Amino acid sequence: MKKLFAHILLLLSGLGIKASSASILDLHHTQEKNTLFQVATISSLTQGVYNGNYSYKKLMQQGNFGLGTFLDLNGEMVAIDGHFYQIEANGKLKTVKPEQIVPFAEVTYFKPSIYNTLANLPNYNTLGTKLIQLFPNKNIPYAIRIDGKFKVLKLRSLRKQSKPYPNLVQASENQAIFNLKDVKGTIVGFWFPEYWGSIAVPGFHLHFVTTDHTTGGHVLEIDVDEGQLSMAPLYQVKVYLPNTSSFADADLSDEALRSSIKKAEGGSSNS
Ligand code: ZN
Repeated sequence: MKKLFAHILLLLSGLGIKASSASILDLHHTQEKNTLFQVATISSLTQGVYNGNYSYKKLMQQGNFGLGTFLDLNGEMVAIDGHFYQIEANGKLKTVKPEQIVPFAEVTYFKPSIYNTLANLPNYNTLGTKLIQLFPNKNIPYAIRIDGKFKVLKLRSLRKQSKPYPNLVQASENQAIFNLKDVKGTIVGFWFPEYWGSIAVPGFHLHFVTTDHTTGGHVLEIDVDEGQLSMAPLYQVKVYLPNTSSFADADLSDEALRSSIKKAEGGSSNS
């Protein structure tokens, strides 16, 4: 091992690279930045794969910001500033336990580089149009955070399902819906270009958490009063594909999948 390390140092010095521990740390830091880590695909979730073999303990090491769901589709997940929450069908937040299972999630170490002040965006589509105008590159995904005041938020949370699992369109038919008015909090989410359509939700996928971290959900409609926007372009995506029989047996080539994804997950027509 020592010999190998010495050999690497020799190689690096041969390339004129200073192999100090600081530069190795810097390299690690750069790799994390702007990387999205995802478990499974939105197609597998849409086809009813609500179990898995990846734990939240491992997911928490892949990012401090993001969204997802739980075993048996038991609610929405929101991760903000390293706090991971489960939002069950009553709309209340519970701290996620490390042993919980991830059927689908997307996280990143959020390091924004695009900022803007938002005001008076009365619905999802006007918000979407505003955000898309700020993208320097429309062919990459973005992580999106909005801290602000919202006049209206229509949120949903999925209800726990049992086997045999219905698909996501069927499961979302009895989703719990809550309307919040004049509420302060944070939007946490992502935007993906249309060409990612069967891997991630194309367009916007946003979750919400109140400032006091008590209530939240998946955003169906939104009226932004005022807010501070921060966004991070995501230049790298890592996807963990579950080694489970339910993932292996899911039909992910179904032509109708794209419209099912929009029906079950879509909030905005922007993509
Ligand atoms: Zn969601």
